This record gives sequence, C-alpha cells and structure tokens, in this order.
Amino acid sequence: MTTERLVPISIVGARGRMGKTLIREIVLSDSMILEAAVDREGGAGLGQDAGRLAGLHDIGVTVVDELRPRRNSVVVDFSLAHATDANIRRCVEAGVPLVLGTTGLQKSTRELLRTASREIAIVSAANFSVGVTLLTRIAGLVAGSLGESWDAELLEIHHSHKRDAPSGTALRIAKAVAKATGRDLEGVMRTDRAGEHARPRERGEIGVAAVRGGDSIGEHTLMFLAEGERLELTHRAFDRAIFARGALRAARWVASRAPGLYTMADVIGLGDLG
Ligand code: NAD
Repeated sequence: MTTERLVPISIVGARGRMGKTLIREIVLSDSMILEAAVDREGGAGLGQDAGRLAGLHDIGVTVVDELRPRRNSVVVDFSLAHATDANIRRCVEAGVPLVLGTTGLQKSTRELLRTASREIAIVSAANFSVGVTLLTRIAGLVAGSLGESWDAELLEIHHSHKRDAPSGTALRIAKAVAKATGRDLEGVMRTDRAGEHARPRERGEIGVAAVRGGDSIGEHTLMFLAEGERLELTHRAFDRAIFARGALRAARWVASRAPGLYTMADVIGLGDLG
C-alpha cells in the first residue's frame, strides 16, 4: 500500500475571497495541511486564527504578514499583482514550488517567473478551473478548423471588485484562437469599439469585451460568427471553490516536479495549450 505524503501549504492572500476558500478546502482535505496563512501588513485579520477566518473552527495557524516557506512545502499565491515579485523571490530563496493564481501580472513579473522556473517548479494559471482549461484547448481546435473566415469574439463577465480587464482567462482563450490561426493576439485584439475607436469590424480581428457587476465569479463565452450561423462556447463558474480545488490539485502535483514553468493543462495531462 502506498501512502501519499501530506503536502504542507502556505497561502498568500489569506484574507481575500480566494484565500479563505483555499484555507477551507485545505482544512477539509486529508491530503494537505495548512502550514501558513499570509496577508499584507496591517489590516484587521492579522493574528487571527486562519481556520476561524475561513468560517471554520480554530486550527492553530494564525495569519501573519511575512512569507517564510519551509522546505518540502508549496506556496499558493492568490494575492495582488504588485505583491507577486517578492513572493516569487521568497520561493526561490527557500527552494519551494509555487502555484500562482494572481492575475494582472506585469510583463516584468512574467519574465521573473521564467527566470525563477529554472530553479523551482511553478504552476501559473489565470484560471485553475478544469472546465476553463478544456475550453481554452477546445477554442484553439475550433478556431484552427474554422479559420479566419468565422469572426471570433469573446465576452467575459466578472464581479464588480475585479481590478483587471479583460480577464487573464479571456486573454488566454483569445491567444489560443489567435495562435491556432497564425495570428499574433497583440496585433488583432480589439477591446474598445466605442467613441473615437468606432469603425466597422476588420477581418481577422478578435474582439474581447468585459462586463463588470454583481457577484459573478466568472463567465466566458467565445463566439464564432459567420453568415447565417453562430457557434458559442461558454464556461460559467458558479463557485470559487472550483479555482481553489484546481489550484490545490496543482499544488499536490507540483510538490514533486522538477524545476520548470507549468500550466494547468500540464496538471490535468493536456500538455501545452500554446
Ligand atoms: P481579494 O482582493 O479578495 O484578495 C486579495 C488578498 O491579497 C487580500 O486579502 C489582500 O490583503 C492580499 N494582499 C495584498 N497585498 C498583499 C501582499 N503584499 N502580501 C500578501 N497578501 C496581500 O482578491 P481575490 O478575489 O481573492 O483574488 C486574488 C487574486 O486571484 C486576483 O488577482 C484574482 O484575479 C485572482 N484569481 C485567480 C483565479 C485563478 O483561477 N487563477 C481565480 C480567482 C481569482
């Protein structure tokens, strides 16, 4: 009989919507333990028991403001983009793998991730849902089959607190569409069709529109429009626990990987989504 080792996990962004969901999932799991709960300096929740913060019972782990990961643990970061560089460096110093869910990363942070991945294993994903990972793969397959003659447009909806737009997931799906048809997303993406930007749609464009409001956890609809027909591929998230479960699946997976920069597609065995 093989016994899987318990994976100790540090959560960064512990007081946030995702942080609390991650803590709940870890406390309720029998394959992981919460090693640390970290959030930014100051603020009401520091020093509070992480289990209670997450709406459960006391677990003896208090929320702290410094990330100090121990060997053989994994860091899961769902905080804010401006905090990410310091967290990546801490993981490299400590030699521990990182699961990074924070979105809206600067280009310099993405470069730092690539450099860091020579020394530690990192899973970075704008969306840890298995359904969205599959949608991204399907988007590329469909776009490659239909070609540029079908107009590709993407609509994403998120809650009113979301800071970045379009969502990281929308960009990833649009990139898969662009790549499958030999286009460079930066050159063909349209995010604003109003006011001075108004003009008829050009062939080959990929429109990406963002709607913000209410408590929507995340919806992405990729449309392929042609004369007389329209194909729509939609994913709707109803519970943020799906991202937490995906990220923790990634944490268990990455715990024993060689250094490298991995995606959720690697975690679920789909390989590179491009
Ligand atoms: P949130 O605003 O509720 O929580 C962010 C938390 O990070 C807050 O508690 C904040 O105090 C903390 N924080 C800020 N600076 C910090 C620092 N320097 N060190 C440690 N903690 C710090 O946001 P959220 O809804 O929980 O989302 C967090 C991030 O995760 C966002 O970037 C969001 O877009 C992303 N997200 C990713 C996925 C995915 O699947 N990849 C899913 C949902 C959300």
